[in-house]
Amino acid sequence: MRMSKLYMPTLREVPSEAEIPSHKLLLRAGMMRKLVSGVYSYLPLGYKVLKKIEDIVREEMDKAGSQEVLMSAIQPAELWKQSGRWYDYGPEMFRLNDRHEREFCLGPTHEEIFTDLIKNELKSYKQLPLNIYQIQTKYRDEKRPRFGLMRCREFIMKDAYSFDRDEEGMKESYREMWEAYEKIFTRCGLKFRVVEGDSGAMGGSDSHEFMAMSEVGESEIAYCDDCDYGATDERAECIYDLKEQDNEELEKEKVHTPSVKTIEQLEDFFKLPADKFVKMLIYKVKDEIIGVLIPGDRELNEIKLCNLLEVPEHELILADEDIIKEVTGAEVGFAGPLGLKKDIRLLVDSRVTKMKNFIVGGNETDYHIKNVNYGRDFEGEVVNDLLLVQEGDKCPKCNSTLKIARGIEVGNIFQLGTKYSKSLNATYLDENGKEQYFLMGSYGVGVSRTMAAIIEQSHDENGIIWPLSVAPYHVVITIVNVKKDEQIELGEKLYKELSSKGIEVLLDDRKERPGVKFKDADLIGIPIRITVGRKANENIVEFVLRRDGEKIEVKADEVFEKIK
Ligand code: ATP
Ligand code: MG
Ligand code: MG
Ligand code: MG
Repeated sequence: MRMSKLYMPTLREVPSEAEIPSHKLLLRAGMMRKLVSGVYSYLPLGYKVLKKIEDIVREEMDKAGSQEVLMSAIQPAELWKQSGRWYDYGPEMFRLNDRHEREFCLGPTHEEIFTDLIKNELKSYKQLPLNIYQIQTKYRDEKRPRFGLMRCREFIMKDAYSFDRDEEGMKESYREMWEAYEKIFTRCGLKFRVVEGDSGAMGGSDSHEFMAMSEVGESEIAYCDDCDYGATDERAECIYDLKEQDNEELEKEKVHTPSVKTIEQLEDFFKLPADKFVKMLIYKVKDEIIGVLIPGDRELNEIKLCNLLEVPEHELILADEDIIKEVTGAEVGFAGPLGLKKDIRLLVDSRVTKMKNFIVGGNETDYHIKNVNYGRDFEGEVVNDLLLVQEGDKCPKCNSTLKIARGIEVGNIFQLGTKYSKSLNATYLDENGKEQYFLMGSYGVGVSRTMAAIIEQSHDENGIIWPLSVAPYHVVITIVNVKKDEQIELGEKLYKELSSKGIEVLLDDRKERPGVKFKDADLIGIPIRITVGRKANENIVEFVLRRDGEKIEVKADEVFEKIK
C-alpha cells in the first residue's frame, strides 16, 4: 500500500475526549473515528488490525473444532422472554419494534438464539458434542460507554456455544475453549491471567475471565504468583444494610435455618452429600465475611469453608441458592449468610440488583428472612474497589500471598448447564431414546476490546507498538526524499520484492518532510521500518525495529533475510 493513497487521517493533537492511551492513539493514528458515544467507525489501518485479531480467533476456534456461523444481530423478543432475560437484562438492551409492533432487540449476546438454532435439528446423542461460533457485532446500551474501544455500545465479539450430553462433556468443551483462549491471547501478544469470574448475567455455574493486565483495566483482580489462583471483584459492587427489622412484613417471612459448623452437619442439614455442595464465594468487607454459595468446584469450597469455619464470631454457613430454595421453598436466586446475628449486611452483586425478591440472613441466629424486597428493605451505599480478598491475604489455594492488580476483561467462558436448554426446551435423545436437556457452555472474546488492550500493553510516548501478529502492515519503507530518483527506485524495488514474498508493506512515498514520515511510522506502530535515504546509491538502507528503536545499516538485498 502506498501511503500517498492511504486514508489515514492522523492527528497531531491529543483529542480531548480521550482519557486512556489506546483511545488517544487509535484516534491520533487515524485508525478509527467516533460516530456517536460508544459507536465507532474503523478506518483502513484500524480495520486491518481488527481483521487480524479476528483471523487469530478464527484459526484457534477452528482448530479447537468449533464451526463458524453468522447469526443476525436482530433477535425476536419471544426467545428472550422464554429464558426470562427479556426482563432481567434491563436498560442495557437495545429494544425495537417493527411496523407490526412486534418486539425485537439488538443482540447483546446470543445464548437464546443459538439454543433455538440447534433445537429440533440436533436430535441424537450421536451428534454431540457440537460447538459453533460467530464473529459478529453486539449491542449493549452501556451506562457509561467510555475509553474508546474498551466499553462500546456497538462492538465486535466472538461468541461460541457448546452443546454436550452430560456434565463431563460440558466440562471437556469448557477446557478446550479455555485452551483455545490461551492460544488466542498469547498470539495477540497479551500478558493475561485467567481468573474466576462472575457468571451472573449468563446464569451458569462456573466461569472464568481472561484478563489482560493493565493499569487502566476496569476490573480489579486478586491473583497468586505461586499457583494459578485468581479472582475478580466483579460480583461485588455495593453493600446494603437491611433496614430495621421491626418491619412486620419481614418478620412474617422468617424461616428456620439452623446454623451448622461442620461439613457433616451441612450434609445432614441439607440432606445432601457434600459433593453436591458447591462453590462458596467469600467476600470480606471491613473484616466481616459475607458469602454466597454458587455451583462450582468442590475442592475450592472445602478450603474456603474451612477458613470460614475458623471465624468464631460469625456462625456463618452459606448455602447454594438452589438448596436454599429447596429448604425454604422461596422463589429466589440469591442467598445471604445463614445464621448470622445482628446487622445483616447484604452484599449486592451484579445479579442481585436485577432481582426483586430474595433471602437474606436473619437478625436472629438460625433464622433467615425470605421474600425480601431489594428496593423496599435495604438501604445502602455503593462501595467501590470491593474485593474478595485484599493485598497480602493468603491464597485460598496454596496459602502463599495474594496480589492485587487491574485487568481488562478480554474474554469470558461460562458453563451454563441446562439453563437455556431447559427454558427453551432444547433436548436430544440419549442411548435409551430418552429425552435429555443439552448441557451448554458459552464463550466470548471481546475482539474489538482486545485491540485496545493490545495497545494498552504495547505503546510508548511516540505511539502504538503493534506486535507483528496483528500489525496492520509488517514493514514500512520510508523514502526520505521523494525528489531523489535513486531513493524512489530503491524504495519501489524493495516494496515490490517484499510484497511479492508475502510481506505486508507500506511504502511512504508521500511528499512530506522526513520528520513527519518518521513520526507517523512511530504513531501507527508498524513493527519494522526500513529507511531509504542518502545511502540509496550505495544500495544501503536503515533497518529499525519499532520496539527498541535501534538503527542498523543493511544492504538492500539482505533486507528480506533480515525480516523473515
Ligand atoms: P464487562 O464486565 O466489561 O461489562 P461483560 O462481562 O459484560 O464485560 P461478557 O458478557 O462476558 O461481557 O461478553 C464477552 C466479552 O465481550 C467480554 O469479555 C468483553 O471482552 C467483551 N465486551 C463486553 N462488553 C463490551 C463492551 N461494552 N465493549 C467492548 N467489548 C465488550
Ligand atoms: Mg458488561
Ligand atoms: Mg464482566
Ligand atoms: Mg464477562
